[in-house]
Amino acid sequence: MSQNINEFKICTLASHSALQILKGARDEGFKNIAICERRHLRAYESFRVADEIILVDSFSELPGLDQQLKDKGGILIPHGSLVNALNTDEINALQLNYYGNKHVLPWESDRKLQREWLSNAGLTLPRIYSNASEIDGPVIIKFDGAGGGKGYFLAHTPEEFETKIKQHPERGYIIQEYVIGAPMYMHFFQSSLTGELEIMGFDRRYESNVDSVGRIAAKDQLDLEIETSYNIVGNTPLVIRESLLSRVLEMGERAVEASKKIDGIGLFGPFCLEAVITPELEFFVFEISARIVAGTNPYISGSPYTDIRYNEPMSTGRRIAREVKLAIEQDDLERIFSK
Ligand code: AMP
Repeated sequence: MSQNINEFKICTLASHSALQILKGARDEGFKNIAICERRHLRAYESFRVADEIILVDSFSELPGLDQQLKDKGGILIPHGSLVNALNTDEINALQLNYYGNKHVLPWESDRKLQREWLSNAGLTLPRIYSNASEIDGPVIIKFDGAGGGKGYFLAHTPEEFETKIKQHPERGYIIQEYVIGAPMYMHFFQSSLTGELEIMGFDRRYESNVDSVGRIAAKDQLDLEIETSYNIVGNTPLVIRESLLSRVLEMGERAVEASKKIDGIGLFGPFCLEAVITPELEFFVFEISARIVAGTNPYISGSPYTDIRYNEPMSTGRRIAREVKLAIEQDDLERIFSK
């Protein structure tokens, strides 16, 4: 006998893209639960978007709530703050229903595995320098576990790299070719029920201070000795040149196809390919996020692309809830939850 959506509650950590996940759940007829850090209660109460708020001091307390959430019929929707707060083992140990494929998580969080995945997909990636002495052009230095681009810096020569890296002792990092072009974050939804890949939208990040140094004259930039930094403070919506859409779909499909090697099932649900597009219109993909990204937040009422497909407001959060609802109605929950 098939189950009813009243037996389930969509739950998520109150952070990152929680507002659209909670609203999307409601729009699809689910009750929802927000797990909220005390210091952020005000924000989540003020929008009146949560049916129930469970207060914690820190998201790291989530494993202690596992049984309680399971008993309530909780379905956990992962996002960036979940993968920051808990490690892969802790997420794997959770017993409550989890939307998405947990087997993909290590491939997303480990830079080497992620690169293997994207190269297997046949995507063009920026070069990685295994030795700083080989630096022969602009490079970006990315630290392990850096949240939102914090602390990244640029260098052009081995000497410049050596001087700057001294300010960051004892941190793991990679040296990556800095591709000069237009950043483009591409949001997808892979339905495990229909097998179809949907384009949900695009964004670009709004980062401090890289997106504001252009507001002062080049001379002032030099005089002030400004170091470029990439700390994310928001996202701005974007549409892509329409003639590039077929390539975007192809790249998304390849990423999904290559992920099937991981466990036979692979990636499903929302994900994002993060690229820089050069003047020759070549896409250099520098990262994949195998879950909803905060760049979908401008589209709580839908993006231009979801508007065409759905003719009703369809955020990525709501699209997730719709998929869960369809799976419940079709009695097909094993296709959307992790084992
Ligand atoms: P991330 O935190 O990896 O999304 O990147 C932070 C910022 O660095 C974003 O503005 C990206 O567009 C930019 N970025 C990251 N990798 C590269 C790259 N290889 N070439 C050019 N820009 C990059």
